[in-house]
Amino acid sequence: MPRKIDLEALCNQKGLRITEQRRVIARVLSEAEDHPDVEKVYERASAIDPGISIATVYRTVRLFEEAGILDRHDFGDGRARYEPSPEAHHDHLIDVETGKVIEFVDPELEQLQKAIAEKLGFRLVDHRMELYGVSLDRKA
Ligand SMILES: [Zn+2]
Repeated sequence: MPRKIDLEALCNQKGLRITEQRRVIARVLSEAEDHPDVEKVYERASAIDPGISIATVYRTVRLFEEAGILDRHDFGDGRARYEPSPEAHHDHLIDVETGKVIEFVDPELEQLQKAIAEKLGFRLVDHRMELYGVSLDRKA
């Protein structure tokens, strides 16, 4: 998977004031591999610093998002999920049974999307692709 993004370093670059609690939340988000929702971030952050409230997590996540260093996703279950904004684009496949999120990049798919946009008279500047699936390996 893509290399880890250091949110704390990005905060510094963006001139965001970093408090001790924000640092803990930044670290939890930087280390997460599972695109956690706010509840999960709160669980992990408050395990490190019990003084962190869920309200602080909400505020901090919104702050990071507004600063453009954290991406929010909606993977179909109505819960916002977060990951540090990746340096290189990737797409997501969501296992609808477990909620597990798999990241992938497919050059052919990227090309096809560009071609579709051009055919419609547009230059593609961004896209989101989410695939929802059931694992073929998990048949019992
Ligand atoms: Zn991702």
